[in-house]
Amino acid sequence: MKKCIIAILTLVFCLLSILLIGCDENSTGGDSGNPSTNPQDSQQPLEHTHTFPAWQENVPATCSTAGEEIRTCDCGVSETRSIPATGVHTTTKELVCSVCQAAVAYHRDGNRIYFGEYPQTLKAENVVVSNSVDQRGYYLGSDNAYYAKVVAAPHDEDYVFSTGATVTAGEEYYFKVEPIAWRVITESNGTAIIVCESVIANGAFGVDTNDYAASAMRTWLNGAFYQSAFQNAEKALILTTQVDNSIESTGHDKVEYACENTQDNIFLLSYAEATNPQYGFSSNDDRSLRASDYSLATGVFVNSEGNGYWWLRSPASRYEYYARLISGGGGSSYANNVDCIYYGIVPVLQIDLY
Ligand SMILES: [Zn+2]
Ligand SMILES: [Zn+2]
Repeated sequence: MKKCIIAILTLVFCLLSILLIGCDENSTGGDSGNPSTNPQDSQQPLEHTHTFPAWQENVPATCSTAGEEIRTCDCGVSETRSIPATGVHTTTKELVCSVCQAAVAYHRDGNRIYFGEYPQTLKAENVVVSNSVDQRGYYLGSDNAYYAKVVAAPHDEDYVFSTGATVTAGEEYYFKVEPIAWRVITESNGTAIIVCESVIANGAFGVDTNDYAASAMRTWLNGAFYQSAFQNAEKALILTTQVDNSIESTGHDKVEYACENTQDNIFLLSYAEATNPQYGFSSNDDRSLRASDYSLATGVFVNSEGNGYWWLRSPASRYEYYARLISGGGGSSYANNVDCIYYGIVPVLQIDLY
């Protein structure tokens, strides 16, 4: 009987304990008006592994500035990482990047490439040039462009600049140093052969023979012109070309001074190249090239449309002191004495388009 009473008391005690604990919990739960003490709100899992979706661009990278990517877990936690600058400039024909204004080596617009710079267009009247010259001999203008000074020695009295103004002998003019426009005549494996689109200068082919390898023209192209028209970053893109000076390249069967092939940075077209339809020279119009204002002042010979006569690198067969040339109208059957200084220069080069 005594054992039975102890067992009942124990059972009652246990039941009371359970009821008391339950009452305790209920009283705490009764406080739920205050969310900060509601255990439901602080019931976080002890370990949460973030699940991130794919990176999304937050700030785009430009040619010269880093961008940023972001990704956010459902829990609200985000992380970011930087996107490196692309290094890819948006080139313009002024040869600066339109985004960061950095100088760029070249600009391509279809079949035309802007590369290097040379004095070309007559200075606008509202531009004032300073007295000091840079190491290239150019004057800084009030428009921040550079200008070459020339005392005009036109080939004829009736020549006119692109502005319509007469080229007056003995008068001092300034010509803007501008990007040179070139035409792609052939392209393969990331390199292109490009021909200047205008008659950019003039000068003698040589002294007394039409030997191109030994000519003053070849020296000028690869010396003075190469040095002044191209900065180091551009020179790095000019490939040395194995220049074909064979008999076949001259368009004649026999030429006394057909020279050996040459290795050149800058060269002239051969007769064969200048009449090759695959290079875009199908008709005279394709060879008819405008003379720059600068070359008009320095004495280039032009036709009534202002298109210049220009040298080829090919010797003529008639005389050993004749070299072949293209007329203002683009005719290809001309040749004249190598010491004529009034024939124009149309440089050619091979560029690495990288
Ligand atoms: Zn998370
Ligand atoms: Zn840029």
